[in-house]
Amino acid sequence: MSVTTAARVDLVAIRRNVELLRESAPGAELMAVVKADGYGHGIIPAARAAVAGGASWLGVATLDEALTLRRAGLDVRVMCWLYAPGERFDDAVAEDVDLSATSVGQVEEITRAAARVGRQVRLHLKTDTGLARSGATPADWPALVDAALRAQAEGLATVVGLWSHMACADEPGHPSIAAQLREFDEAVELAEKAGARPEVRHIANSAATLTLPEARYDLVRPGIAVYGLDPIPSLGPARRLGLRPAMTLTGRLALAKRVGAGQGVSYGHRYTTSAETTLGLVPLGYADGIPRHGTNLLEVWAAGRRRRVAGTVCMDQFVIDVGDDEIRAGDEVILFGPGDRGEPTAQDWAEMLGTISYEIVTRIGARVPRTYAEEAV
Ligand SMILES: *Cc1c(COP(=O)(O)O)cnc(C)c1O
Repeated sequence: MSVTTAARVDLVAIRRNVELLRESAPGAELMAVVKADGYGHGIIPAARAAVAGGASWLGVATLDEALTLRRAGLDVRVMCWLYAPGERFDDAVAEDVDLSATSVGQVEEITRAAARVGRQVRLHLKTDTGLARSGATPADWPALVDAALRAQAEGLATVVGLWSHMACADEPGHPSIAAQLREFDEAVELAEKAGARPEVRHIANSAATLTLPEARYDLVRPGIAVYGLDPIPSLGPARRLGLRPAMTLTGRLALAKRVGAGQGVSYGHRYTTSAETTLGLVPLGYADGIPRHGTNLLEVWAAGRRRRVAGTVCMDQFVIDVGDDEIRAGDEVILFGPGDRGEPTAQDWAEMLGTISYEIVTRIGARVPRTYAEEAV
């Protein structure tokens, strides 16, 4: 093992997860969401693996992320949806990126860029069906549709998509689910009556892709499930489908040493040894995305079993207490992974910390090298 610390990314798993998601949503195209550096897995390798698995679209939040995909030569449809007034849309229009528009002001800004670039922009009009995040409310929807259709008549834009996002798709049976889908159908109907002829209507994230056939429409937009993590851990739908976590976070012990009983360990001495014991030093810390909340709480895999973090998680390192088990500097530690060997999963970490797996993988720091197993991709 030459690598000291690494987030190993299994690109075969990403490709296979996309294939499985496509099979589970027949009739819909698939947009793999690769925002936030591919949920921490590396945007370009993740995007390539997703495309190899049959994703015909890639979804990102920011314009920079969209341009990063284009510059790497990814030539599938790329859609982008989050920006503030004053951003430069010109490059995205020139690079043939599909853009979300959520207000009349955005339609105007984007179409001005299209006029400057001399190229029609593909717009996806976003309706707020109940998440109350971005998107036009039902009251503002008719004006957004009108503005976009005017831009289309002027030859500056094509309205290719009508879309929305769900609030509680990860809570099956939540009353907002049916309400949002009803709202979406009404918004689509209104836009189509006004003359829109969308190529794709889309609302489904991973949870909806896996559990709500009626939410799939023409295109599904899974993110977390692409990386093999479960959007609805209580139901385990991802596991049932055979999705496989793609990221394994590993390190190697920087040091192993014997200490006596009653030794306070790490900052603040929040852990004290109960007997003479062996401590191992793991060279990853909160700067690498190991939450400081994991102090005395998180488990990792070392010397054949799970070990709890002993004491405070520091910026660059933390300690484990292995008792009288044999460890040596250089031994591999698996912080989380697919769980095959008994190591915790990102989902296990999320549960220990009271968060979601999304936060675990996206926060792995820039200092941690990503390495890629890509034999079959
Ligand atoms: C992040 C995101 C997704 C993917 O959500 P998951 O829960 O990871 O599947 C889909 N659509 C939009 C608009 C998003 O922001």
